[in-house]
Amino acid sequence: MKELVVLSGKGGTGKTTITAAFASLAKDAVLADCDVDAADLHLLLHPEVRGRMEFRGIEIAIKDPALCTECGACREKCRFEAIDENFDIMDTRCEGCGVCEIVCPADAIHLEFRLSGEAYISSTRFGPMSHARLFTAEEASGKLVAMVRKNAKMLAADEDRSLVLIDGPPGIGCPVIASISGTDLTCIVTEPTVSGRHDLIRVVGVARHFKVPVAVIINRYDVNPEMAQTMEAWCAEENIPVIGRMPYDTAATMAMVKGMTIVEYDDDVLAPAVRDAWRRLEGLLYGR
Ligand code: SF4
Ligand code: SF4
Repeated sequence: MKELVVLSGKGGTGKTTITAAFASLAKDAVLADCDVDAADLHLLLHPEVRGRMEFRGIEIAIKDPALCTECGACREKCRFEAIDENFDIMDTRCEGCGVCEIVCPADAIHLEFRLSGEAYISSTRFGPMSHARLFTAEEASGKLVAMVRKNAKMLAADEDRSLVLIDGPPGIGCPVIASISGTDLTCIVTEPTVSGRHDLIRVVGVARHFKVPVAVIINRYDVNPEMAQTMEAWCAEENIPVIGRMPYDTAATMAMVKGMTIVEYDDDVLAPAVRDAWRRLEGLLYGR
């Protein structure tokens, strides 16, 4: 089983639009939406949820009021100011450091994992999908990404599928690291802008750190052909294949409005470019 992750370095490059189009072309894939902070692959794939599970991300302190003697030791030692004047713990401020549990002379405090989100197993018209939702203001998205990937691999094994296609999160932080590590290929969707170039270099750095090969798609390349050329030249110097050059086309927006992928919308500009990029990605993945 192979894992292909699509990344972008930042939001708004068309990554999810292109990943959804790949999903419609992949014959034998499980889809994994690892952009858990701002998941939107479901808007195009309309998953039908078959199973859901709780996600408990970070630990927080819980007080048993029956045991508390109101000595104040916990409030004095909590450096996150998460304990109020009544010695009650404020969930939203607690960082789960555990100091209050240690200093409490009455054993009135213990740590518990807080419910931080949900993970889902779903069906889509292109195959099974693993996805999740992180509750508002919750952290630990890297841990939730790991759960989404684990569920996707389990689905692939159960349904004898040969590919996990991952829609990765933006940036280069913990959720990206959780999305990229151990995969077989990273496809970076970028755009020809100064920040796009900067982000491309940063994501390539992360992929190389984890020894994952990289391919690049330049989306809306015709908006700034000079910058697109500069980026292609950099890719050539770095031995990174540019497997797609997508022109700007309103069909991407039209398809999204209709809840379809570019391939289903089947315009005569973007759809052929996406098909070609997918063929080349398959070539890199399976050595064809
Ligand atoms: S676990 Fe740490 S942050 Fe949370 S209330 Fe206790 S001392 Fe404060
Ligand atoms: S340290 Fe324990 S007993 Fe003292 S105020 Fe905090 S919870 Fe209550």
